Amino acid sequence: MKAFALTLALASFAASADHHSHDNTAGHGAHEHGHGQFNLVLDGDQLMLELQAPAADLIGFEHKASSDAEKAQLKQALARLNAADTLFTLSPDAACKLTEQQVEVGHDEHDHDHDAAHEQDHDDHDGHEHADVHATYTFTCAKPDALKGITATLFGLYPTLQRLTVQGIVPGNQVAGELTPSDNTLSW
Ligand SMILES: [Zn+2]
Repeated sequence: MKAFALTLALASFAASADHHSHDNTAGHGAHEHGHGQFNLVLDGDQLMLELQAPAADLIGFEHKASSDAEKAQLKQALARLNAADTLFTLSPDAACKLTEQQVEVGHDEHDHDHDAAHEQDHDDHDGHEHADVHATYTFTCAKPDALKGITATLFGLYPTLQRLTVQGIVPGNQVAGELTPSDNTLSW
């Protein structure tokens, strides 16, 4: 597949890696159903993957679960998001092992906390709640040099997810691009 070797300024991504990337610089435009963000950093033998996408795509709804059916659906969706090996495929020779993961669902009340236009947003609010799933996965790789790419197999699990905008830092290179159901492998 494509080899991405774009020299994209990753300053904002590097900065956001230190705190929660809910404060996406793209602001409200970042929440677009069918579209997620995927960040990766390979540093030494540590690979960190970060996935952020609308709950509409990864869970099926964005309001807070209230009925038993919704709670069951949420529980199942979170279990699926915690099964990292079904979401991504890494170069097998790199022998990467999942060592840490965290999956959160953030509702928009939270996301708007730091928004300067907070008050105005409320006046304009259409009453529809939005929520994002934010998941991070950390792997330790026995042979990080052998890690040459990643395939986002999660598209097969989430049919409404249409694209992931990718930014990443790997040794000696920055990677950027877009993954889609038909072009779901990032190589470097
Ligand atoms: Zn939404």
